[in-house]
Amino acid sequence: MKVIRNINEMQQIVKDLKIQGKEIGFVPTMGFLHEGHISLIERARNENDLVVTSIFVNPLQFGPNEDFDQYPRDFERDERLARERGTDILFYPSAEAMYPKGAGTVMKVTSRTDVLCGEKRPGHFDGVVTVLTKLFHIIQPDRAYFGLKDAQQVAVVDDLIRSYFFPVELVACPTVREEDGLAKSSRNVNLSTEERKAAPKLYEHLLSARKLAEEGADVETVRSQLLSELDQMALGETDYVQILSYPGLEAVQTFDQPTIIALAYRFQKARLIDNIIIR
Ligand code: AMP
Repeated sequence: MKVIRNINEMQQIVKDLKIQGKEIGFVPTMGFLHEGHISLIERARNENDLVVTSIFVNPLQFGPNEDFDQYPRDFERDERLARERGTDILFYPSAEAMYPKGAGTVMKVTSRTDVLCGEKRPGHFDGVVTVLTKLFHIIQPDRAYFGLKDAQQVAVVDDLIRSYFFPVELVACPTVREEDGLAKSSRNVNLSTEERKAAPKLYEHLLSARKLAEEGADVETVRSQLLSELDQMALGETDYVQILSYPGLEAVQTFDQPTIIALAYRFQKARLIDNIIIR
């Protein structure tokens, strides 16, 4: 596995790979890799000639009071995991290189972002699509792999690819969970011991919500039941519970179309998100 920090060098490698006709699978991450990331790398490995994984904690997608500084980082461990689990090229640019001084062009998302994390984290998805536009231009992947744990991100990236005619196939991959059901997340290390014990309840409550929906309850009943279960948890607070069409992310009255039940929950030092999509 090669580690590339320099953008020009990465572009030269991509140019050579394209001449050789190689198909590139791309896994963008913010590092502190776990089995969720690895599942994307392994899928990319199976479906492409080679895998580029990027590690970049993108300052532009964090709000002023968010956890950019507390976001966990461990490059040595990431490098080892990426190598062992099938990455060919680890792209690890600096913030200075990705946002050159004086270059001020950014992207703006105007659909699918007035709900869920888009509503709660203003500017977050503008930051996400800005960095992905840069990364897609540098890496020129044939396929890009994203996790459905961040389901709104998948919906927004789908829109980005269509809006800007990126010749990239978006591959949405299932959420990988701990044995107790907690969705794997780099942020889980910022949970206290007590919070870690409570956190699997988020998924349990989502499963109950899905069961209720499958038994025929209406959308508002399911939403208020889930909200009240979350509000009964002692250690944190609910950021949102929303039930929307997927991937359109529009309000729904029934479960007659693919529908996402999504939540965000704030613990002391970690805001966690999770969801279930009912097809
Ligand atoms: P992040 O490093 O959190 O930006 O995540 C990088 C990619 O990994 C995104 O596409 C995430 O959706 C995906 N991902 C993160 N956690 C999981 C998980 N538990 N299961 C599957 N994919 C995940």
